[in-house]
This record gives sequence, structure tokens and C-alpha cells, in this order.
Amino acid sequence: MASEMSLHHYGKPLVCTYSGGKDSDVILELFKRSEIPFEVHNSHTTADAPQTVQHIRKVFRALEMQGIPCEIEKPTYKGKRTSMWELIPQKLMPPTRLVRYCCSVLKETGCKNRYIGTGVRWDESIARSDRGEFERLGKTKKETEKFDAVMLMNDNTASRRMTELCMRKNKMVVNPIIDWTHTDVWEYIHSEHIETCELYKMGYDRVGCIGCPMMGKKRWKEFADFPKYKSLYIHAFERMLKERNKRGKESKWETGEEVFSWWMGNDDIPGQMFLDEICGDEN
Ligand code: SF4
Repeated sequence: MASEMSLHHYGKPLVCTYSGGKDSDVILELFKRSEIPFEVHNSHTTADAPQTVQHIRKVFRALEMQGIPCEIEKPTYKGKRTSMWELIPQKLMPPTRLVRYCCSVLKETGCKNRYIGTGVRWDESIARSDRGEFERLGKTKKETEKFDAVMLMNDNTASRRMTELCMRKNKMVVNPIIDWTHTDVWEYIHSEHIETCELYKMGYDRVGCIGCPMMGKKRWKEFADFPKYKSLYIHAFERMLKERNKRGKESKWETGEEVFSWWMGNDDIPGQMFLDEICGDEN
């Protein structure tokens, strides 16, 4: 039905959004078996582990061989190519669980005016107090708007639905495995012999940006396995402090290491008030 609506409403095939994780591999398989016309889209976050990037490239090579159109979109910010490490100094603050500006710029890109399919599932739902469907990123409505606050397409909140409409991007969304459990996903992967990212064999239960603030203490393992990413964050935090200093903004840290240590302990947003006060980039 989503495919028919996509062709009718947008005049284009449904898009399978693909992140390289197990849920993406499952929906991709479902797309292939459904025998509908479709395209595949990946947003290159720049903070994915090398294993994830390799898995995406391998899957996309195979799709191309089968004649399925696929695209890896590189992120841009204010008209220029960007990355997690460029974005942090520009935004004057690290990404946090409440202020996930990186998702809007690095992950929620592309597919405007399209009907997309995602691998969002209720079982992965992350309890977010009473904030409901929309992220509340500022203390006031104006501040919240300032952060371009919207529900992110890769959010797994309990308020997600099988089909959704994003008015802002004129995007329709179908979540075909929304009610699949973790066990359902792995049983399907094993029974259908679907190849998944190497990270799952390394003890990871999730594939995504290394150091994602949503992952809390799991980030310690990520940084132990991928120390280069820790250095990249620390250097980005150092450049962020320099930029803050240049713009005359107060900071409670002196080094990138100090920011990193605060950021890693930021389990439940103590210090968020400080960030609300200091956040400087209006866009
Ligand atoms: S680090 Fe987390 S919040 Fe930021 S882009 Fe990656 S998944 Fe989104």
C-alpha cells in the first residue's frame, strides 16, 4: 500500500532508508521480497564505525549489481560538506541526549518529498520521560524552535506508528517492522541467512555513531574499541572551546579532555541547564 501511495502521491518509488544496522537489513530484505519498485538511501554520518561503513558499501555494491538504485548521501551544513567533528565547534557545544543537532544534520538528511520506509521498532523504544512525540530541546517555545525541534525519523519511541506523516519535510513514513521484537528480528536474520554488520560479532547490540550520546555508558566500550574516535571528539571539543573563546562565550572547561569527561558522565543531563545557557549557534 505504501508503494502504491508513493507512486501515486510522489510519482516516485518508495525509499528504503538503510543505516547498516540489523533492523535495516531486515527491512531491506522485506523490500526485496515484496517485489515493489524501490530505492535505497543511506546518510553517511561520519561517526559510524569502519565495520558499519564497510557493511553498507558491501550491501550497496550487491544492490547495484541487482539494478536497485541506491545512494550514500554525504552530509552538508550551511551549504558545505561537514562531519561530526566539524559540526561540534560550529554548534559550540557537544551533542547531548536532548540536543541532538547531529542527527538533524548528519542522519536525517535527504528523502525530502518522498515516501520512506524505516526499521524503527517499538521494542527499541527509549523511555523519554514525558516528552512524548516531540523532542523538547529548549526551556521555552522559542528556544525549542531555535533547535529545529522535531521528532527524528530514527527515534524508536512508543509513540511511533506504522505509518506517519512529516509535514515539515513533506515526507511520508512507513515502519513495516514496528511491532517486531528483538527476538523476531534475530530469528528472521538467522532463518533467512541475512548477513549483518561485523560489530554484532564483537558484542554490540546496536550499530550507529560511535559516541552517540543516546548510548550512555555503552560508549565506554565503543571508545575502548575505537580509541581514534575518542581522539577525534577530544580534538573537536578543543576546537569548540577555541571557537567559544573567540566569540566571547563563557566555558566551564579548559581542555577538550575536560569536556570529554563531562560529556561521558552526562548520563541524565546534569549540566543541561548550563548548556541551555551557553548554546550559541542559532541554526
Ligand atoms: S551521534 Fe546519535 S544523535 Fe548524533 S547523529 Fe549519530 S545517532 Fe544521531
